[in-house]
Amino acid sequence: MSKFLNNKLFRYLAVFLFLNSAILPVKSSSALAAWALKTNGVLELRTKSNTNLKAYFQKANQIYGDRFWVDFPGELKNPRTIKGNGPIKEIRLGKPSKGKTRLVVEFKEETYLAPLTWKMVGLDQNRWRIKLFTPKYSFTKIGEGFVEKRIRNLKKDQSSKYMRKTVHNYLQLPNVKQNKFSVVIDPGHGGPDPGAIGIGGIRETDVVLEVSKIVKKLLSEKGVKVKLTRKNEVNLDLPPRVSFANNTNADIFVSIHANASRGKRRDINGLETFYFRGWRGRLLAKKIQKQILRVSPGSPDRGVKQGRFYVIKNTRMPAVLVEIGFLTGRLDARRLEKAAHRKRVAYAIAKGILEYLYKVG
Ligand SMILES: [Zn+2]
Repeated sequence: MSKFLNNKLFRYLAVFLFLNSAILPVKSSSALAAWALKTNGVLELRTKSNTNLKAYFQKANQIYGDRFWVDFPGELKNPRTIKGNGPIKEIRLGKPSKGKTRLVVEFKEETYLAPLTWKMVGLDQNRWRIKLFTPKYSFTKIGEGFVEKRIRNLKKDQSSKYMRKTVHNYLQLPNVKQNKFSVVIDPGHGGPDPGAIGIGGIRETDVVLEVSKIVKKLLSEKGVKVKLTRKNEVNLDLPPRVSFANNTNADIFVSIHANASRGKRRDINGLETFYFRGWRGRLLAKKIQKQILRVSPGSPDRGVKQGRFYVIKNTRMPAVLVEIGFLTGRLDARRLEKAAHRKRVAYAIAKGILEYLYKVG
């Protein structure tokens, strides 16, 4: 992957579509011919043929809500803003730089989005489709021009290149040898022990169980054997978690937790990962810490530390305990209560694990 992708991963989920490398001269008019955001949450685009599109997603910040945008070659004549409805705040058509056109879809606050599942699909040489959301309430179509109109001026032999093509580089997790590794994921707490209780009653046990299950799914898809120490709300004491891991002969053990600060201070946020011993444990902790920080911009890096937690001290394989944020912290709690963020954290942990296995295994 390009450096750009690595650096901006998650903050800018890039959907790169290289259907044709023809680049339009700066002076040419916008390659965007028509667009429509339909009642089912699907954005359809019609462009000039031979167009390179780049699509991005950025999480909400203080200034903007969640934003999805697509850059097109060719310069837009008249920048404009179109009022949204339903989950859409507004749609802006702009000129981010000379010779470019940008279509921005800005969402209202608290909209449930799952950008990790988004795929931009090329329907043919000049039409594109991406599902952005599932409307919970009625949503009125917004758009300009006719997206259905087709241009049939391409040579026939090129058409195969324009077959349905789904490219989602941002989902790329490192590949490791299939069926070689086994990992134990330990969702902290459970049952009568809810762990930390955060702002609005959010419970650690629920958050970490969900994240752990997604990590399991992502790793399984890469051919890694994964076992969870608990699959539901059961109380499992610490010694059985450890003996479970030791008995399965797992390559690594990852315990997933969320933090609470003393006095439930809302200004304390941040991520940290603990290991107990060995360079392998430390390396695994570093890989995971790096990835979870990437998906949690603004949340402090509390570092990779040595810790004496029971589960990482008594497991025989490289073991880490990751704290994915403070449920009592304003910034972290707001994020962790969102399913889309929990998914990103799970993805980050899976990525850290795979990078470790790739390097050490
Ligand atoms: Zn905990």
